[in-house]
Amino acid sequence: MLGVYVHLPFCSYLCPYCDFAKWPLRATSAKRYLEALHAEMETYEPAAAATMYLGGGTPNAYDVHAIGALLARLRTRFCGAKEVSIEINPELVREGDFEAYRAAGVTRLSIGVQSFEAAEIRTLGRKHAAAQVEDVVAQARRMEFESVSLDLIFAVPGQTPASWRRSLDAAIALRPDHISAYGLTVEPGTPYAAWQAREPEAFFDDTREAELYEIAITELGAAGYQQYEISNFARSGHRCAHNLNYWANGEYLGLGVGAVSYRNGIRRANTRSLEAYLTAAADRRPIPAEAERLEGRKRAGEAIMLALRTAQGVGLREFKERYGIDVIADYAPIVTQFARTGLLERVGDSVRLTQRGRFLANDVCGAFVTFE
Ligand code: SF4
Repeated sequence: MLGVYVHLPFCSYLCPYCDFAKWPLRATSAKRYLEALHAEMETYEPAAAATMYLGGGTPNAYDVHAIGALLARLRTRFCGAKEVSIEINPELVREGDFEAYRAAGVTRLSIGVQSFEAAEIRTLGRKHAAAQVEDVVAQARRMEFESVSLDLIFAVPGQTPASWRRSLDAAIALRPDHISAYGLTVEPGTPYAAWQAREPEAFFDDTREAELYEIAITELGAAGYQQYEISNFARSGHRCAHNLNYWANGEYLGLGVGAVSYRNGIRRANTRSLEAYLTAAADRRPIPAEAERLEGRKRAGEAIMLALRTAQGVGLREFKERYGIDVIADYAPIVTQFARTGLLERVGDSVRLTQRGRFLANDVCGAFVTFE
């Protein structure tokens, strides 16, 4: 299965915690960028795709005609996608947008909510009001999208267990099909990093953040959302196929500035320089990129890292068949160490993270990637 990801990097405003490849929306660059995307997609042989995902940035900073034209063009190159997702910011949704998305074949909406609390929304630099989210979800329901997902963030400075519960409850009350709950990470070079350097006590330590994570797992579980990945919860039949393919170490093609692809054992990351991307595409030159072949231990380590993110973990027999690696024997020192410290567990034919392990997933997964 091939997943196609398209990065649309423009935003109407820039959030102070964000380190994605993104730029303020400017009409000229936004137009040049679509032309560049078209040029880039022409460099690939036509192929069947199981999923498409328009992410950003803020994809709905583009108007619906541009999105419709982009999807139509993508389909001429990569046909057959059953799941077509778009990320949207709620305050940018205009009358008639969802009708146009449905007509263009979008099946899944991922709505960047982050919080329903006015103070936290302000702290995050976001611009919507909670009531707008309700309205957008109601519109999405009327248009019968197959899945509607809400993104939330916890460990926001100023957040409390009570305010986090209120956001979770507000999200659950809208009955979305899917909820993603991410712990805030302070990325180097962002305004949040400067804030944290000035005022470290404003930010959550691991213990307080773990408390919020546990609240999410409990509340969402009680509301019928199954945790199928560290940060992702879904009602039955609404897991995101596009992301499941990443975690299954499947093949994907990333189009756009900073986009990453993984095909034929090679991981390739496009330049994160917007100008370099636009110029190369306009000149019909290859997009500057860094490529790396993943093989042997490295490939297996990455595959374990991805599989551990999921609720079912690493299927041992299947892993041996696919990669020729016996996870228990070949990674014995770290499997034993993490099992002893209560971060990993063996369940039937699988090894998976415990609930505590999910919170410390980066440490556990990182150990498998770097294990020699
Ligand atoms: S979080 Fe989203 S909307 Fe905010 S700057 Fe980053 S990509 Fe843009």
